[in-house]
Amino acid sequence: MSTVDADVEIAEVPVAQDGAEVTEARIARVGDITVRRLMPLRARRSVGAWCFVDHYGPLSVDGVAGMEVPPHPHIGLQTVTWLLRGDVLHRDSLGSEQMIWPGQLNLMTAGRGIAHAEESPAEHDPQLHGVQLWVALPDVSRQVVPTFEHHAELPAARVGGFAITVFMGELAGARSPATAFSPIVGADLAADGPARASLPLDPAFEHIVFVAEGAAEVGGVRLQPGRLLYLAPGREQISVAAAGGSRLFLLGGVPLGEPLLMWWNFVARTPEEITAAAAAWREDRFGTVGGYRGERLAAPPLDAIHLRAPRL
Ligand code: MN
Repeated sequence: MSTVDADVEIAEVPVAQDGAEVTEARIARVGDITVRRLMPLRARRSVGAWCFVDHYGPLSVDGVAGMEVPPHPHIGLQTVTWLLRGDVLHRDSLGSEQMIWPGQLNLMTAGRGIAHAEESPAEHDPQLHGVQLWVALPDVSRQVVPTFEHHAELPAARVGGFAITVFMGELAGARSPATAFSPIVGADLAADGPARASLPLDPAFEHIVFVAEGAAEVGGVRLQPGRLLYLAPGREQISVAAAGGSRLFLLGGVPLGEPLLMWWNFVARTPEEITAAAAAWREDRFGTVGGYRGERLAAPPLDAIHLRAPRL
């Protein structure tokens, strides 16, 4: 997916509770789809290497085009596409063409640069529900050759009534085969019925937790869709209780410790890199995304934004 805003920062006042912080999503638009943008935060550009979290749906796409994100470029990040319901078609400038369904992972490593499009297929599920996540590449890996991975099968674990699917990193003994460039975890927790568990955490990691469906209480904090809970490093476990049918996400990693400069679909370190990437897209140097009917996305005007000094 793509950010349509020139400025992806949001302002909010964290609510502190036992070392945890709760923030509220900003509502944003991606094409015709309304999303809950949970990250980035003004005060926190990344959690581990996770630097962008959009949650959309569940919404009806019955009889309409559904998701339509035209070709657009990325640098310096991985895009993590994960569905709870529906189907999305991915195409990129490497020639990849891949449908994704719930329980599967589309992982695109942009590295030095790639372009892609994501759309609902012509014949699609009438419902759509998912998350679009970005992982920042650490400085030493930012120039890697772009790649695309599709993982149809992912490892599962079962803890206290939660069916856990691990799509990045490792949790509760299950390890994802997806390529990661920093110590990280990304997991989908599904409560079949009323569920209560103590989830094991890596104390070197910081984490975020959010509810995509239903309601939960995590570390004593009540969560529903649109709320994000941040947990600082140093925890070896967290208590999670959820109503039956709830879906939660746990994302985390070792604090990146690198200043990120994010503008449009680019994760960089300096304004010069952003300017160069925008020029490369304008001059059509990211390669062609085949098969998409329609115009590619234009970058917002550079002079309409202020490229703030990078910060952690
Ligand atoms: Mn994208």
